[in-house]
Amino acid sequence: MTNNTEVVVIGGGYAGVMAANRLTRRDDVTVTLINPRPTFVHRIRLHQLVAGSDSAVVDYREVLGERVRLVVDSVDQIDAAGRSVALASGGTVGYDYLVYAVGSGSADPAVPGAAEFAYPIATFEEAERLRPAFDTAPATAAVTVVGAGPTGIETAAELAEAGRAVTLVCGGALGPYLHPRGRRSVARRLAGLGVSVLDGPDTTVTAVTRDAVRLADGRELPSAVTVWTAGFGVPDLAVRSGLSTDALGRLRTDETLTSVDDVRIVAAGDSAAPSGLPLRMSCQAAMPLGARAADTVLSRIAGERPSALNQPFGAQCISLGRRDGIFQFARDDVAVWFNIDGRPGAKLKELVCKVVVKHLAGEAGKPGSYRLHLRSGGTKRRQLLRAGHEGAPATAERAA
Ligand SMILES: Cc1cc2nc3c(=O)[nH]c(=O)nc-3n(C[C@H](O)[C@H](O)[C@H](O)COP(=O)(O)OP(=O)(O)OC[C@H]3O[C@@H](n4cnc5c(N)ncnc54)[C@H](O)[C@@H]3O)c2cc1C
Repeated sequence: MTNNTEVVVIGGGYAGVMAANRLTRRDDVTVTLINPRPTFVHRIRLHQLVAGSDSAVVDYREVLGERVRLVVDSVDQIDAAGRSVALASGGTVGYDYLVYAVGSGSADPAVPGAAEFAYPIATFEEAERLRPAFDTAPATAAVTVVGAGPTGIETAAELAEAGRAVTLVCGGALGPYLHPRGRRSVARRLAGLGVSVLDGPDTTVTAVTRDAVRLADGRELPSAVTVWTAGFGVPDLAVRSGLSTDALGRLRTDETLTSVDDVRIVAAGDSAAPSGLPLRMSCQAAMPLGARAADTVLSRIAGERPSALNQPFGAQCISLGRRDGIFQFARDDVAVWFNIDGRPGAKLKELVCKVVVKHLAGEAGKPGSYRLHLRSGGTKRRQLLRAGHEGAPATAERAA
């Protein structure tokens, strides 16, 4: 008789890789990571892939522990009662514990013409699809970026720096998360790059055609290439599998990231909705959540009580091309007046991108070494939970 525990991790992004690596702390745990691509997608560089300044992929050998078995496939269905997952290529994989870390993608735009004519860039495949459009569009062609959260701002800046004529359509405020001081800095930098920023309540996009974007105020902007960055959605795997989710489709869990339906399933990253109060969809949250999910499984295997998450949000970090950026500090997830912008901001952002890969590689080489999820924090979250806060927006933009 063997005491080995089989853990299956669905999704090889920031949360899934962190969880898979950490689970190898125990020699009697076998970890299988299922992901549709054979390379790790460094999603926080996807705007760079679009503009041609980075490949946005990392070899799994660099970030995945040797004891993690990588299965290149997609999970079609979770059978919670039978403790197995069905693969798209056929066949099933059984588990004792399951980590649900399928991440996010672009939200359904629900604007006439957007699904047909605009290009989302929330996933590697979407970003790749956009590249040929730039290869064929003349350098002077009008490019519209829709959505002025961090992804939209970063994409607009990156494309402008690559010589494109970019209009950023905010559909409201530029960088809603930013402190007014940070927002002014970003506006200045975008203007310096030649990005034309359209903000205010009447700048919501009402229609997209092959060569134009229509706004709520009646304006029609010529647009040879329209990039859609407004909001993230999540895969519907949990919904399809009959598991409890929030309105967006994120798996509902308690504060230990355990599914409200099944103690054998834990969730992490963008596809998790702990206590119906999900964290901001971000790499910043996904990595500690991945570590927390692994710790929950390891506690259960050890017969111990898992700890609750305690996640602080201290900053939002936005690149503005390769030479500019802003590190917007926050307290209790609310932006404060202090930021680091300009070239130091760009350097900090680049450091963050590198440190993310380092953290994953560090956990691969020495499982259990990552400790950021153990910092004290999350006071505001605990207050909200005590006050009985429930529910979250139906689409979400990232935090950092
Ligand atoms: C352009 C851009 C820039 C960004 N910049 C930042 C930033 O600077 N800072 C920040 O904090 N966040 C940033 N984000 C957001 C960040 O990338 C996401 O929040 C983060 O990737 C979430 O991590 P995750 O592990 O939950 O999911 P993901 O990284 O999305 O990984 C999920 C994985 O699961 C796989 N998967 C999905 N369905 C299945 C299935 N059925 N079976 C098997 N595998 C499946 C996917 O293919 C993917 O590999 C950015 C996003 C974009 C698009």
